[in-house]
Amino acid sequence: MDRITEFLQEHEWEIFEELAEIIAIPSVKGAPEDGAPFGREVKRMLETVARLGQRHGYTVTLYDEYLLMEYGEGEKTLGVFCHGDVVPVDETEWTTGAPFALHLWDGFLTGRGVRDDKGAIIQALWLPDLLRAAGEELSKKLVVFIGGSEETGMEDIDAFVRRHPMPDVSVTPDNQFPVSVGEKTILHITARSGRLRDVVGVSGGIAENLMMSRVTVKLRDTEPIWAALRQSGLEVRHDSGGIEVISTAPAVHAAACADYHSAMLPVAAFFADCPALCEGDRAQLAIAARLLSDGRGTAFGVAGSDGGFGENTCCNGIAAMEGDRMELHFDFRISGGSDAEKAAETIRRAVEETGWEVAAMTYRAGFMLPEDSEEVRRILAACERVSGRTGLRPYYSGGGTYASHLKNAYSIAAVADYLPLPEPPLAQGHGDEHQPDETVSRAAYLESFRHLLAVVTELGK
Ligand SMILES: [Zn+2]
Repeated sequence: MDRITEFLQEHEWEIFEELAEIIAIPSVKGAPEDGAPFGREVKRMLETVARLGQRHGYTVTLYDEYLLMEYGEGEKTLGVFCHGDVVPVDETEWTTGAPFALHLWDGFLTGRGVRDDKGAIIQALWLPDLLRAAGEELSKKLVVFIGGSEETGMEDIDAFVRRHPMPDVSVTPDNQFPVSVGEKTILHITARSGRLRDVVGVSGGIAENLMMSRVTVKLRDTEPIWAALRQSGLEVRHDSGGIEVISTAPAVHAAACADYHSAMLPVAAFFADCPALCEGDRAQLAIAARLLSDGRGTAFGVAGSDGGFGENTCCNGIAAMEGDRMELHFDFRISGGSDAEKAAETIRRAVEETGWEVAAMTYRAGFMLPEDSEEVRRILAACERVSGRTGLRPYYSGGGTYASHLKNAYSIAAVADYLPLPEPPLAQGHGDEHQPDETVSRAAYLESFRHLLAVVTELGK
């Protein structure tokens, strides 16, 4: 057994205790407070990691938006970028236990953030110990960044970039094995319908970047609508306030939703053709059904795939009512090799041509780094050594990480998932990052420490 494996076995329970401590903090974005722009719980998370960091031998500096932890000396710096904020949860969807309590069961660890990205924070915390155990010394100074708003606009990394010199090379363990050398453009748009009369309420989704898994549509209480719905096959409810239709679909991350659709699609498609609804509403719902028709963005004119980036995706994460109009929020992921501004214009035009309005639109342009740089070569060598695999190639990714805000930055695996391990026995739409029952295999999680150590050792030379 090698020294690192032995070390990890010896310290396994300390690692789980630290992970449990930060999983227990519900660091979802909250109302800003003095010194806590992303809310009290995000700040508490940063403070907790700062305390743990000191214990592991880091020099820590706490900022409002993020935490910096430094270790070692060197003219050059190696950045490791993790985030401690997490996406919101719908507790009723969790089947394995409470989201903000680390749960160990049958060789798995479950809790909001175990994959994204609190698990990686603990890996980074143990780097000084692991380097010592391995007898390795870096010639670069290690700078670990723990952010507080990765999931909600990345003001944290913007503040870092304004205040500090750019690290010479950086990794962000918040992606897949082995290494990403480019990211798609991420574009958010809110499309607003025309006036509705029979549809009086729409409410669904928990985040823009998660395909809507549940929506409730409220309708005026009329006999024809009720009769039509009774035969629709949709889940319907009749109460004093009106008629409610409930629809569900798998919750899939926006980066991987090409083959999925929003929970809103079956409802919109049904009403588009339902004579019980007034003509105006039918027309509006037909537009909604068209926009929602697939997870590729066909209706917006941006479906397609581009080399290593794979298919473009279009995710309807949220639906809501704004006065008497419906708003649908979309998250697009478009090849980082294509012109982001042009894609934004194509999408805007497609929405406006239906008669709907674009109520809001923001985007972060993607990027493409060379596949054969010295850094990529080194990361791949570390990945091959630690995994025993050969012939690894870099990939282009759909998820937006801190790498898009940094220079010479590569996103790597948050969880070393190259070991042949059983999948957790969870329902479809459960277990992954951003999903309910976020779960990691215990063995893969411990392997992740070896993996990060290997990459950091190689880049820190
Ligand atoms: Zn993340």
